[in-house]
Amino acid sequence: MAEPSTEPSEQPFNVLAVDLGVRHLVAGVVGPDGEVGVRDRVVPPTRQPWVALARLVDRVLAATPPESRPSVCGVTGPGPVLADIGEFRSVTVHGWEGVPLRRLVAEATGLPTVLSSTGHAHAVANAPERGSLIGLYLGDQVDGGIVRDGRLLGGANGHLGGFGHMLVDPDGAVCPCGSPGCLDLYAGAVSLESQFGREVSRVPETTIDRAGIMLARACASLAAMLDIHRIVIGGPVVTALGRRLTDALSAELDQRSRLVHLEELHIRAVRQHVLVGAAAVARHRVATGGIDPVPAMTPS
Ligand SMILES: [Zn+2]
Repeated sequence: MAEPSTEPSEQPFNVLAVDLGVRHLVAGVVGPDGEVGVRDRVVPPTRQPWVALARLVDRVLAATPPESRPSVCGVTGPGPVLADIGEFRSVTVHGWEGVPLRRLVAEATGLPTVLSSTGHAHAVANAPERGSLIGLYLGDQVDGGIVRDGRLLGGANGHLGGFGHMLVDPDGAVCPCGSPGCLDLYAGAVSLESQFGREVSRVPETTIDRAGIMLARACASLAAMLDIHRIVIGGPVVTALGRRLTDALSAELDQRSRLVHLEELHIRAVRQHVLVGAAAVARHRVATGGIDPVPAMTPS
């Protein structure tokens, strides 16, 4: 399944962007050039996260100047997203099952609202115009997306890009999804923190090296299968593990990407606010005709 390409330069409106995580709910207003303006965050409560999110969004909109009022809303979170009913259904981040989030946000804000996996949003935010890219997002869980010739690929159920559940170690531990050796066990924040009982930024160096090796295995397999030579890796785990992670990835990849058509494989690590992705995926949906932005407020 594919969608038409985007034309972000033709979208001068602002976007209300929201991201849901294990340790944060964050909301903000993102401008046409991707700059994040007014923003706020809270620690999600263990019960009724929607109530906390509604208050957060209210605060952000109240603090937003009239001339910066958003015209659409993009909400990201750990996939998969059940697009037909507008819910998140993650195996890692709980509390949103059965919450009709797209409808609730749209009713609370009056804005056309898009739900997306953080991985899809990351891929869309970093794809070159009309170009191709594999996006890997290392957040609470490992997620991703594929943009081919400017089109975000969805898959039969819209779940394409769940790279966290690629098998990278046949002898590995069992993942919450039920299979052994998934990439998420080695490069997802929730998995790493549960294994070591500490923040990702404080895991042992050998664990960082192992994460780089497993990422390289995943990248080499994806690039070989898909014939896409540009991979962008982002998310808080990339930021936390830093240069050691990317060095380990590069060293392993040199051993694995010997196919002729992978000689031009380029992997880039980015540091990017998660709200940039949420805004990008909402703009993508506008550009593809999925939603219409509400008219911007004009000066009286
Ligand atoms: Zn898994």
